[in-house]
Amino acid sequence: MKRTIVRIDEELCNGCGKCVTPCAEGAIVMMDGKAKVVKEELCDGAGFCLAVCPTGALTLEEREAKAFDPELAEKEEEKRGSRIINESCSICSNTEEAAPLIPIRTKGKSAWVCVRCLPALIHG
Ligand code: SF4
Repeated sequence: MKRTIVRIDEELCNGCGKCVTPCAEGAIVMMDGKAKVVKEELCDGAGFCLAVCPTGALTLEEREAKAFDPELAEKEEEKRGSRIINESCSICSNTEEAAPLIPIRTKGKSAWVCVRCLPALIHG
């Protein structure tokens, strides 16, 4: 089937691994120092990973791919266990224990911002 799925440009990928955690479905893994989608049926094409990539290596594309399999994603998550996001707000340094964090792109850069700081970023 033709659908939206993440594309990883290996030339641009610096292997930082920041895209692994936002992918709740576990579609992105690090292999040989590069991010890879090893099972395309785990990628739902939502694109939460895009905002955190510092190099612009991640994009969404429309192409032939296996359909997203939510049951497989759930089973994989049970096997893997929940992931802890060790990120903090780039403005106030809050961790996700203090306030939910959202990955954003601003002025050509990727950053995590907590929901307390987001309104000021939006409205100035
Ligand atoms: S966030 Fe971008 S640069 Fe970092 S591992 Fe993922 S694709 Fe590569």
